[in-house]
Amino acid sequence: MLVQQILKSKGDSGVITITPETPVSEVASILAERRIGGVVVSSDGERPEGILSERDIVRALAVRGAPCLQETASQMMTRNPVCCTRQDTSDAVLARMTDGRFRHMPVVENGKLVGIVTIGDVVKARLEELSMEKSALEGMIMGY
Ligand code: AMP
Repeated sequence: MLVQQILKSKGDSGVITITPETPVSEVASILAERRIGGVVVSSDGERPEGILSERDIVRALAVRGAPCLQETASQMMTRNPVCCTRQDTSDAVLARMTDGRFRHMPVVENGKLVGIVTIGDVVKARLEELSMEKSALEGMIMGY
């Protein structure tokens, strides 16, 4: 399965981005309100400069305490996030996420953001694919 099929199944809800100047306290509110675990950081809403996830905030809180909420996204984000394209396979994306120990991956085309996939999206797509393969194999064996 290709990333473009995963994006299609998610529907075209657009990608939420924040600017590097956004305070971390505001990022925490956005993550909570939108029920998402991470957000792409971009000055122009197109080129991904970084990614900031709930894990970054939790780690910073543990190390630096509540004052870290006054920092900006650019101070806390992971720079140059690993990205994929619509033509990448779900298996390749899953392998990169597992190796890199992260759960979000921006999707880019010509350097511009076109979507984001999470490990949950990829696992869901793979499970659906496996279920269809199972049904097809059962059909072949039973002679339907
Ligand atoms: P996550 O599992 O996505 O919540 O992120 C775990 C850590 O990896 C955090 O420090 C994120 O900033 C970082 N991270 C998340 N996504 C990516 C990515 N696509 N490329 C590089 N780092 C990432």
